[in-house]
Amino acid sequence: MAGPEPILEVSGLVKHYPLTRGILFKKQIGAVRAVDGVDFTLGRGETLGIVGESGCGKSTIARLLVSLEKPTAGSIRYQGQDVTKLSGRALKAVRRDIQMVFQDPYTSLNPRMTVGDIIGEPYEIHPEAAPKGDRRRRVRELLDVVGLNPEYINRYPHQFSGGQRQRIGIARGLALRPQIIVADEPVSALDVSVQAQVVNLLERLQDEFGLSYVFIAHDLSIVRHISDRVGVMYLGRIVEMGSDAEIYEHPTHPYTQALLSAVPVPDPGARERRERIILSGDVPSPTHIPSGCRFRTRCWKARERCAQEVPLLAVPKALRPAAGPAAHDSACLFAENSFATRSVPPEKTA
Ligand code: ADP
Ligand code: MG
Repeated sequence: MAGPEPILEVSGLVKHYPLTRGILFKKQIGAVRAVDGVDFTLGRGETLGIVGESGCGKSTIARLLVSLEKPTAGSIRYQGQDVTKLSGRALKAVRRDIQMVFQDPYTSLNPRMTVGDIIGEPYEIHPEAAPKGDRRRRVRELLDVVGLNPEYINRYPHQFSGGQRQRIGIARGLALRPQIIVADEPVSALDVSVQAQVVNLLERLQDEFGLSYVFIAHDLSIVRHISDRVGVMYLGRIVEMGSDAEIYEHPTHPYTQALLSAVPVPDPGARERRERIILSGDVPSPTHIPSGCRFRTRCWKARERCAQEVPLLAVPKALRPAAGPAAHDSACLFAENSFATRSVPPEKTA
């Protein structure tokens, strides 16, 4: 795809957490495969949406991208260097450029710090970013940029609403003039009426500062408006990836189709054509990921082959001749350009 030049290239990203037993003699008895082989690129100035149910590894990817954790395997290339191999000063420089906005504005802001100190905190960690005498002025400017009154600089988080708190979190994320913002479910904790305002603010800031976003959500409808491309995650992997129109109008992976079938459709005609797909069973534990296709235990299309072969994230062979919007990356051996309606009850192949 001829998109914008990539600013971030993620390849083979894996994060496994050891599962141990015993206190004195810790023995590893398994692993939580939180992120289990993820590849994507982020274009400069682009917004990549990452969507998936709770527990599929979204926040783990976020922490890896901002170098809060080191991956078990894989690379994250930024400006020609693999961030995961950096340490010391070089790592600190990269951390300045890739900032995070957290999910919950209620717990991510220290209640005992003033708003001015919260937004200015990054300057304590990166003193070279702003001379001491200039920091208050910058913080006031940041308040203004995110739509808050600069006079609020001495107030405390509890004096603000949820939406305003998230604006404070965004201001802090902007303090170091980053290139990339990883927003981990930035509006999930907010009232529906406030969500759009915060999304609009993020879009405006993107234009104003030329930012690139990784925008994480558990709900496909939220990322639709802000994302240029969307990746759908299931159990630590991206199972489908494409442009906005490709994912929402021509999903080919059964999991995406199931997620979309649950999203209310405003057009009543379209609603009739789209059967509601209810997935059977629960998401398997990331300590016991099914062989072959990890979605097969909940998939109504699963066959024998799905237990043996790991489907790769690529344009499926059967869809290549179509070359239309259905020809995008989908990790399914039986990907189809239609909301497959179920003729038989879902079968479990586990
Ligand atoms: P999401 O953000 O999509 O809800 P997470 O990335 O938070 O998912 O978690 C993915 C999986 O990894 C979950 O099963 C979670 O319990 C597990 N996990 C996350 N962090 C840790 C950790 N530090 N140690 C062990 N398991 C973890
Ligand atoms: Mg999360």
